[in-house]
Amino acid sequence: MEKNGKKVVIIGGGIAGSVVAKSLQHHAHVTLVDPKEYFEITWASLRSMVEPSFGERSLINHRDYLTNGDIITSNAINVTETEVWTADGHRIGYDYLVIATGHADHVPRSRSERLEQFKEENEKIKSASSILIVGGGPTGVELAGEIAVDFPDKKIILVHKGPRLLDFVGSNAADKTLKWLESKNVVVKLEQTIDLSTFRDGLKLYQTSNGDTIVADCHFLCLGKPLASAWLSESVLKNDLDYLGRIQVDEKLRVNGRSNIFAIGDITDIPEIKQGFLARQHAEVVASNLKRKIGGGRECGQCGMDTYKPQSTAMAIVSLGRKEAVAQFPFLTLIGRIPGFIKSGDLFVGKIRKQMGLSPGIVKS
Ligand SMILES: Cc1cc2nc3c(=O)[nH]c(=O)nc-3n(C[C@H](O)[C@H](O)[C@H](O)COP(=O)(O)OP(=O)(O)OC[C@H]3O[C@@H](n4cnc5c(N)ncnc54)[C@H](O)[C@@H]3O)c2cc1C
Repeated sequence: MEKNGKKVVIIGGGIAGSVVAKSLQHHAHVTLVDPKEYFEITWASLRSMVEPSFGERSLINHRDYLTNGDIITSNAINVTETEVWTADGHRIGYDYLVIATGHADHVPRSRSERLEQFKEENEKIKSASSILIVGGGPTGVELAGEIAVDFPDKKIILVHKGPRLLDFVGSNAADKTLKWLESKNVVVKLEQTIDLSTFRDGLKLYQTSNGDTIVADCHFLCLGKPLASAWLSESVLKNDLDYLGRIQVDEKLRVNGRSNIFAIGDITDIPEIKQGFLARQHAEVVASNLKRKIGGGRECGQCGMDTYKPQSTAMAIVSLGRKEAVAQFPFLTLIGRIPGFIKSGDLFVGKIRKQMGLSPGIVKS
């Protein structure tokens, strides 16, 4: 395959950005900008907290799948019409730019440090008799499920400010999840908050907004992460952010009105539920359009481009420990072993590793 001299810069090495980088690496000069040296299958991290060795397969060094491109391990801090600026002082020129910064998360720079962090979190869980989880979205629910199944003797208290769990799916799925958690002796407190400013290491007494006192040996904050777009708010794209900080894109996933800047994944305003398998589909559309635009060694401004059709129904699977899950399909909500069979055993890790061209099981350290 002939590699084109065009420069494609991809900002963000989550599932969306890494799929584009991998797809284009033999077609253009690719540069991936990410503050981590690795791609993390984000939802597998909760399993890695109860079984740290699980992270060996779900953390993939960018270099393992991006063998023919540049990697800059830093945050992007600005974009101009022609360059990306990074926190460590790089100014990278681009012909095409793909923004895939998803949600902001503060995780270590190296894969080995992240694996160490899983071990520390695991020690924290193992040494506690009672655990407070704050937040009843997918992260809080999946973490509660992992701990309840692997450590059935631990007392788990889950506090959620909303009237029901998992407010991104229907109430049927939420009700089933609540019953499942209660059947595992998880105490769920809805419509209550905890003043985070009072949190300190070693604190064992927590006060909820209803005046309840919770005693717990440790806590985990599982609150929604903010979108990682604040760095664009003073850039040439500042008017392309909506009121929630999402990047506005057209049906070809171009940032409004621009022919050479694209955005994909959770960071976009595409009207659909935010899911990794959809972020991957965005990435495939953009990679295919870019290949066509720059293909054959000559830029093709007039080539037809694929469009992306947003997912119209909310489809999601939330795992509940190693064997069960709750799933919302277009016309059906299911809980138990059947949806668990789809997701909970391997959490799609083997499948994603294969898609990235890696062995599903063998780990490269
Ligand atoms: C508990 C839970 C379970 C889930 N389960 C599933 C599931 O079963 N199936 C599924 O399909 N989806 C699932 N999801 C959703 C899925 O995690 C997201 O939709 C997906 O991770 C979005 O991918 P992304 O690449 O857009 O963003 P992210 O995964 O958020 O990646 C963004 C990347 O950008 C980088 N970045 C951020 N800021 C900058 C910057 N300034 N400069 C450079 N890089 C930057 C980050 O380091 C990161 O690498 C789940 C989510 C949660 C919370």
